[in-house]
Amino acid sequence: MNSTRRQVFSGLGGAFVAGMLGAGRSAGASTGVGTGAPITLLAQQLTQGGWARGQADAVLALDLDGTPVTKDERGGFFIAFDRNAPPSAVLTGRGPNGRETALPLTIAPRAWQIEHIDAPMRPPKMPSGEFWRLRAAELARIAAARAKVTGADGWSQAMLRPVEGRISGRFGSQRVYRGEPGSYHSGLDIAARTGTPILAPADGVVILAAASPFTLEGRLLMLDHGMGLSAAFLHCSAHRVAEGDVVRRGQAIAEVGMTGRATGPHLHWGLKWREARLDPLLFLLPA
Ligand SMILES: [Zn+2]
Repeated sequence: MNSTRRQVFSGLGGAFVAGMLGAGRSAGASTGVGTGAPITLLAQQLTQGGWARGQADAVLALDLDGTPVTKDERGGFFIAFDRNAPPSAVLTGRGPNGRETALPLTIAPRAWQIEHIDAPMRPPKMPSGEFWRLRAAELARIAAARAKVTGADGWSQAMLRPVEGRISGRFGSQRVYRGEPGSYHSGLDIAARTGTPILAPADGVVILAAASPFTLEGRLLMLDHGMGLSAAFLHCSAHRVAEGDVVRRGQAIAEVGMTGRATGPHLHWGLKWREARLDPLLFLLPA
């Protein structure tokens, strides 16, 4: 087995390297003859809703399918794959000599929990003009929060489970009404009593702490984990931190509740990398 060319890996801990010892050959036609600058994946969940962390010190510019990827000052990077990501992606690095290293990635499809309902989709309730005025302001605050760049480095950590409790809703699950798909569930639901502390799964900076409940999300708390990775904690009964606070992994940041649109007390934990929606279960330390 040639460890520098290893293509099979599982979960945390597997590492493989492109570049260096001829891996450029496996990288396809765009790679120059000889050695491109190496790109190394250090930990990864290469599947829909998953992610990868890696190192690319000698690479000047890095992109994922043509979209630039930021590196930290030590050459570390983070990328992730949407719930509906296509089965392949290419990470490309350009070295100081202009040579490229291309690292093809296979993104495993998921078997999402799909429930077929033999009933028509409920006609959308006609929200009032007042609802839309409120909603537009809420969406603008969420967008402004997600645009903040804080330098948080939670992206580089394995995450803690924010609340102990029964998983009452999985990421990606979806109902199909007589062939018409509803929107999929965009986070992980954990049922727990109102008032149960919610712990920061990783280091971050509070980018939004809605004092008055949002129409759908209720008391919404959002953390930036850096490198384009952000988290949302919905339906809180209270917040224990304020906007701008730096929080550490394991710190109590809020309390479980059922504010906003919720049928019982639970935490809805959502994670996004840029516009990609991610599965929080894939970020947790192995149990
Ligand atoms: Zn939910």
